[in-house]
Amino acid sequence: MDQSSIDALRAQEIAPRGHFINGAFQAGETGALHEVQSPINGQPLTQIAEGSPADVGAAVRSARTAFEDGRWSRMSPAGRKKVLLKLANLIESRALEIAVLGVRDNGTEINMAYKAEALSAAATFRYYAEAIDKIYGQVAPTSHDVLGLVHHAPVGVVGAIVPWNFPLMIGSWKIAPALAAGNSIVLKPAESASLSLLKIAELAAEAGIPDGVFNVVTGRGSVVGEALALSMDVDIMVFTGSGATGRRLLEYSARSNLKRCYLELGGKSPNIVFADAPDLAEAAKVSAAGIYRNSGQVCVAGSRLLVQQDIYEDFVAEITRHAESFRVGDPLDLNSQIGAVHSLPELDANLDFVKKAEAEGAERRTGGERILTETGGYYMSPTVMAGVKETDNLFQNEVFGPVLAVTPFKDEAEAVRLANATVYGLAGGVWTSNLSRAHRMVAEVRTGVMHVNTYGGADLTVPLGGVRQSGNGHDKSLHALEKYFDLKTAWIKL
Ligand code: ADP
Repeated sequence: MDQSSIDALRAQEIAPRGHFINGAFQAGETGALHEVQSPINGQPLTQIAEGSPADVGAAVRSARTAFEDGRWSRMSPAGRKKVLLKLANLIESRALEIAVLGVRDNGTEINMAYKAEALSAAATFRYYAEAIDKIYGQVAPTSHDVLGLVHHAPVGVVGAIVPWNFPLMIGSWKIAPALAAGNSIVLKPAESASLSLLKIAELAAEAGIPDGVFNVVTGRGSVVGEALALSMDVDIMVFTGSGATGRRLLEYSARSNLKRCYLELGGKSPNIVFADAPDLAEAAKVSAAGIYRNSGQVCVAGSRLLVQQDIYEDFVAEITRHAESFRVGDPLDLNSQIGAVHSLPELDANLDFVKKAEAEGAERRTGGERILTETGGYYMSPTVMAGVKETDNLFQNEVFGPVLAVTPFKDEAEAVRLANATVYGLAGGVWTSNLSRAHRMVAEVRTGVMHVNTYGGADLTVPLGGVRQSGNGHDKSLHALEKYFDLKTAWIKL
């Protein structure tokens, strides 16, 4: 990856794109287009199809037809594996092109987009491709005169709705296991970050995924997303996004066919630093990356820093120093460490959180400003808000921006209480050299993931999912496959 290749790719015009339905791009029923802006400079970038319920209907029908006739669902697992490995290789061979395309509409810094978006998507397709011909059904321990078999049957048509922060990484976490298991899929990307996923659909066809098996309908959540989640012919929904939309999906399910909904809804993850942390300098450095990378637009971001009283002032000073040292700027400049905030409404919401926190008595140690306004893009300085109280808005609610809320605690009991004092439960971290305390914290902090003496960076081998109002179900690992199968029992009298 070098700057001149990136600059050549960014200079390319992006032609308007339609939906990807039944193996081909199409304009959609109304032909309406949705303008996509680049957060890099606030300028129009291209247009994508503004989907309608009729477009969703067409995509779901093509997915259903493909599923029922077995062109993919009845292909042997080894056959599906071959196609998905080809797709992984295609993604890998075009990784820079895909990463730059994604950065242009979502604003993530290119080093991260290349690894965490493009290469990680390739790795995810490869992981589930390689897994799928190694999964066995079961023989039940019955009496000798019957045979009880438990088969894994694909569920049918999967509806997937994904957000704009890591469209390709999160999208692949859903598309790859769903396809590996033999399902058909209709995907709705975020309206402001659809380009890289449309490219994956194109490559999927090139790799040999049969027509109709993988469809993408672009457009608004309130139109396309709603129609998909209300469809009587979608068997499960898999979703990553806000709690408000997650609630709606459950309502849509209740109003339609009671489809299962798997929801990953973000969090307000506690990162807990004890005075006995093995290396406080390392803890500050990693904790800063754990909140500020991708401008804090990360569902597992360690956005609540809980620091033991004895080291509080020194640690806040150290993390403030790190916050100020990040190079924020053009996400397609290899020297930038943090790119753009995804959109103007997101940036305004972040700034509003800071203003409200100050009004509630928190101290702004650094950041909290829109910067680089001369570029026309949406950039924000990494922000440290200290002295945040349990009852504050900033303690309780997810910002989804580069804003760290810091709160002191006295002892382990208070750390656990504060860690669990929000409605969320996605991720968390604990820094301590006391092994027993580390295990106690892992057990007592109610989250789906706990980091010990690090923050972030888990790979595909472990599941990611939330508890409480952070959602249900898991992405990544073999566990993610479970939701894309129904268990089917065969009870055979011998
Ligand atoms: P975020 O804060 O990440 O934008 P959203 O939940 O608004 O969270 O968006 C995540 C995804 O959900 C996007 O693809 C968006 O278009 C979609 N979405 C938003 N509203 C709805 C809705 N009412 N029904 C279905 N999908 C929706």
